[in-house]
Amino acid sequence: MSDPKLRINFERLQADVDALAGIGRHEDHGLYRMAFSDGDMAARAWLQERIEEGGLDCYVDGAANIHARLDWDGERASVMTGSHMDTVPGAGHLDGALGVLVGLECLRCIRELGLPLRYPLESVAFTDEEGRFGGMFGSQAISGQLTPDVIHNARDLDGIALSEAMARRGHNAMDALRARRAPESVHAFVELHIEQGPVLDRRGFSVGVVDAIAGLFKWNVSLIGEANHAGTTPMDMRNDAFQGLAEIGGEIPRILEENGGTRSVATIGRVELFPGAANVVPGRAMFTLEVRDTEVEVLAELADAFRRAISAIARRRDLMFEFEVLSEIESVKCDPGIVEVIHESTRALGVEPLQMPSGAAHDAQIMAAITRAGMIFVPSKAGRSHSPAEWSPWEDIETGANVALNTLYRLAV
Ligand SMILES: [Zn+2]
Repeated sequence: MSDPKLRINFERLQADVDALAGIGRHEDHGLYRMAFSDGDMAARAWLQERIEEGGLDCYVDGAANIHARLDWDGERASVMTGSHMDTVPGAGHLDGALGVLVGLECLRCIRELGLPLRYPLESVAFTDEEGRFGGMFGSQAISGQLTPDVIHNARDLDGIALSEAMARRGHNAMDALRARRAPESVHAFVELHIEQGPVLDRRGFSVGVVDAIAGLFKWNVSLIGEANHAGTTPMDMRNDAFQGLAEIGGEIPRILEENGGTRSVATIGRVELFPGAANVVPGRAMFTLEVRDTEVEVLAELADAFRRAISAIARRRDLMFEFEVLSEIESVKCDPGIVEVIHESTRALGVEPLQMPSGAAHDAQIMAAITRAGMIFVPSKAGRSHSPAEWSPWEDIETGANVALNTLYRLAV
């Protein structure tokens, strides 16, 4: 195969990024395009117009995922790309949106060049990735991971049911079960996304090739001691639940060093003390512990190590402890063949990529259940994301989009 080194139409991509950044914006508070909100609906209508204007087929599946399709015949497996347009409240303009717009641009370019394809191309805007109703709804629908129960029970924080929100927008939520795709109908999946972390920016790389998406466990831990008068209870006669929590917090670096890998991270992100008064020794300390790594075995070993440490500290300090598993998500390896194609496409453009893990969850992780999946990262300035401060230099966006274009083309011929 000759190497045509394809280039996207950068001005057109820029115009799309700017246009979509204006949809669902609340002045300087960022974007509000939560799934099936007015902002999300406006973005959906805008995207469908762009798809049709670009001479591509537009298809909306049962989960309200919007597909742009090139050379589609419903028979051959497709090379799929895409990401999401929904946002968290107060979001930046690139999270998800960039992957959708780059996917659209890649299909338009290949169509305009009239390049023959062995596999049709498909770019998807997935529904509710960010989790107004739980998250990853669209990709779970396509990869067949939804059940009628999950759909029926999905609600947002205000108690609005997913089925009600979808009905209001003319969709039947149960149709999401019909969005399922057979594994043999998807040849590969590649998602371009901003990194949402500081690594590429700090280390001066303009492209990241993701080799694995981290898994995690999230616990809610309670240490139970005895609430007592802060003035009259001598230090050696206390059962101070906070002291136990503080010691566990202090153990995190040692546990990661001894039982983790170079990619392990652990966070105590939420703490509550009871009764929570300045003059009362805390009788109960509740905290969340979230730990991530890309290796299943490492994560299992970390779970053991944290359990042992919590139990030892509780015993030594005469505290009781309880813990509840809030969630467990398995890590996912990207397909080595696709990782290699992304590397080659990047180097062919004269750019050296950084191979790295993704610490955040993405639709690609869900799609990996039915197809070979890979991800391309574009740097996030100072690692800022889920905030109006989120941005990436235009040069890096252009490079990333060209990597996506060449990667999709190589996979489709
Ligand atoms: Zn995202």
